[in-house]
Amino acid sequence: MPVEELMTAVAAVLVTVPATLVAAHWARRSADRAAEATVAAGQGQSAAAVEVARIQELAGRAYTRDAVRRAAYTDFLRAADVLARTVGELPGTPQAERKGILDQKATAVTEALAAVALANEAEVTASAEALRQQCDRLERLALRRAVLRSALSTLYAAWCPRNPEVCDHQQHITAYLAHEQLCAWGSLGDEERWAQLDDLRDNLEDSGALSAQEVAQLLDVANSATHWNAMIGGWVRDPLLERFGELRAAFVRVACGALEERLAA
Ligand SMILES: [Zn+2]
Repeated sequence: MPVEELMTAVAAVLVTVPATLVAAHWARRSADRAAEATVAAGQGQSAAAVEVARIQELAGRAYTRDAVRRAAYTDFLRAADVLARTVGELPGTPQAERKGILDQKATAVTEALAAVALANEAEVTASAEALRQQCDRLERLALRRAVLRSALSTLYAAWCPRNPEVCDHQQHITAYLAHEQLCAWGSLGDEERWAQLDDLRDNLEDSGALSAQEVAQLLDVANSATHWNAMIGGWVRDPLLERFGELRAAFVRVACGALEERLAA
């Protein structure tokens, strides 16, 4: 096959590759190598054709492998993001639907992690594993967190529309007091919490802000102060989701780094 025809054939193969950065990269490299191979072959063009085919095949395989990796990393990141968003929105989700939605999103993260592990890049896998552990933590705390946060916003909305500290409306006062108690709950010792539990129950019931079922669930959560401050955060802080954000950024950095490194190799 004359060199011109060969190069046309190579170009024809290359234009069928999707016009992504990766494809452009391989196209450039493969064309360069094909040209080199053609020149180097010199004595026989069939040898050059074999070499071109071999390079094309290697490039194709590497391209496919990279595309699979990229898809696995993207899918994992998307699944983790969906879980974090679900956890964030859970306090506003009807109570009966919370667990089902949460389980589904958490399973998707575990499945997506398996594909990342198959891509077989140690550093990326380790980073993904760290992010998944935070997803697990979010999942474990999400239901208690939702009960707590949803109750806090309901109580806050039931505060006195004027000044709760000087108000004498029983429901406004007790909503305010219950809210204050819950905010301080994580810093109490076990005995102090036990001593205040009845008082908290009275305030919650007197506020009339929550249903009997919501009060029962909240008291159940308040029985243990484990991870309380992580769940409750603060007015603007949300430690669980902030930590998720940090580990997510680290994963993106490592995964993009790994993909780019191979591209430049
Ligand atoms: Zn009032």
